[in-house]
Amino acid sequence: MGKKYYCDYCDCSFHDSKEGRKKHNLGLVHQRMKEAHFKQYTDSRTKLAQELQKTPCRRYLQGFPCKFGDDCRFSHLLPHEIDHLRYAGDTSPLIV
Ligand SMILES: [Zn+2]
Ligand SMILES: [Zn+2]
Repeated sequence: MGKKYYCDYCDCSFHDSKEGRKKHNLGLVHQRMKEAHFKQYTDSRTKLAQELQKTPCRRYLQGFPCKFGDDCRFSHLLPHEIDHLRYAGDTSPLIV
């Protein structure tokens, strides 16, 4: 008897009740999972937005090492990495 409540963030289900949900939503596991979910989402979005504002680093994109590394003021994102970030922003936890 009774419905099940499924939590997308935690990938778990439990007996649905007002108390149960409240308890779950305040739980440490849930808070962590939710935080991680949004962090991942905003991280890739923010990164993508930032990178798209930069000019691509010519040297790096031609396959040469760039001595500035992560501090380079040009973008080191390869086209497939841009795709990856775009994709990551739109879906939930499949990416590693
Ligand atoms: Zn949860
Ligand atoms: Zn560079």
